Amino acid sequence: MSLEPKVSLDCPYCKAAIYETLSWFKKDYSSCPACDQGLAAGQFAAVVANLEQAMAASIEEMINGKPESSCCGNKSSCGGSCSPTSQEDQAEQ
Ligand SMILES: [Zn+2]
Repeated sequence: MSLEPKVSLDCPYCKAAIYETLSWFKKDYSSCPACDQGLAAGQFAAVVANLEQAMAASIEEMINGKPESSCCGNKSSCGGSCSPTSQEDQAEQ
């Protein structure tokens, strides 16, 4: 069960948003569904690599159980109402 995440990237020619899976953007050759211009291999390589890194990082966070950080990051009960200045106090030590 591999549900591939879909991403939306802009066509370099017509600037239309292309909403496809990552593997679609990694195909050797594809064409824009909107303007039918050919999209060369590697056209999206850099941005796809960035997206994959970001996804890997967020998956790691899920696995490691990183706390859904509230504002101060150490009290889950503060509900986002405590002031971020407390972090500056800690840094001064
Ligand atoms: Zn296009």
